[in-house]
Amino acid sequence: MSFVRDGNVLDGSAVSDHVRGQLRDSVDALADAGATPSLATVLMSTDPASETYVSMKQRACDDLGIESVHRELDADAPAAELFETVEELNADPDVNGILVQMPVPDHVDKRRVLRSIDPAKDVDGFHPENVGRLVAGDARFKPCTPHGVQLLLDAAGVDPAGKHAVVVGRSDIVGKPMTNLLIQKDAGGNATVTVCHSRTDDVGAHTRQADIVIAAAGVPELVDGEMLSAGTTVVDVGVNRVDADNEKGYELVGDVDFESAKEVAGLVTPVPGGVGPMTITMLLYNTVKATSQQVDVPVDLPDTGSLGQEA
Ligand code: NAD
Repeated sequence: MSFVRDGNVLDGSAVSDHVRGQLRDSVDALADAGATPSLATVLMSTDPASETYVSMKQRACDDLGIESVHRELDADAPAAELFETVEELNADPDVNGILVQMPVPDHVDKRRVLRSIDPAKDVDGFHPENVGRLVAGDARFKPCTPHGVQLLLDAAGVDPAGKHAVVVGRSDIVGKPMTNLLIQKDAGGNATVTVCHSRTDDVGAHTRQADIVIAAAGVPELVDGEMLSAGTTVVDVGVNRVDADNEKGYELVGDVDFESAKEVAGLVTPVPGGVGPMTITMLLYNTVKATSQQVDVPVDLPDTGSLGQEA
């Protein structure tokens, strides 16, 4: 199966559909064993983007046969209400995964929220215990976006082993875990990794030396064709709203200037339709994994090293 179209465009939606098909079999196997997976989402925000993300996650659960539970709190409710909600979900044996949609309001301590989730149900993989396990090479839940990037590379037959990967961005949710996954002595890792960030002097000087560029800076079209060498694999994590002359008044663009990058790159992911669908797919993956671990029913999970062989 080929996940590449138009010569060098790596189709994240196609990879995502494929992985979800495999996950559906695992959900069915768990349901047959009397353990239908269940994901709880918690929203404490009136931000329309957060509301959209949560409803996309719920819809994806429904499509796959994963139950979803939703808790919504007023954005100005006391922080204690959020912690009580998480405690209640931690204690509920019918809830296998918990996701608190970020960002939470300023009066809520974000780090305390991440610490409050039971690490065994932490399907985002942001609890310090799970971050530590990832760094130590013993990941329980790989964070969804970088794990999705790993599977995208795998689906395209790009093995990072021995290659020079440049990660642009050092956030806790994308750049740092991406770097940690790529340096692991494990399938989908073994890369030599350079990390660029907001204080990097000349990002292009680094990206031009890369075999793989992963752009996650949140800066529209930061990486263009001039900053790439011929044949580089380019994965665009960015999702940025920019003003546009259309009905909505905006459009979504990545951190990569798609048109100029496509001229030079060996492979490039589009926005939308690249990393975005994979992020939600890997949330479903972690929910299935959490359920399997909690009920002690082993299931097959698609992972790095498997997709490329099918391609
Ligand atoms: P963030 O703002 O938390 O982090 C951005 C990082 O980029 C920082 O570490 C900063 O040092 C670095 N940076 C900023 N400007 C830079 C520059 N000019 N040169 C080099 N580095 C620079 O953002 P984030 O949460 O990591 O997200 C990054 C982007 O990815 C955003 O556009 C976000 O919307 C998108 N995102 C997409 C998905 C998805 O599923 N597709 C998931 C998460 C984030």
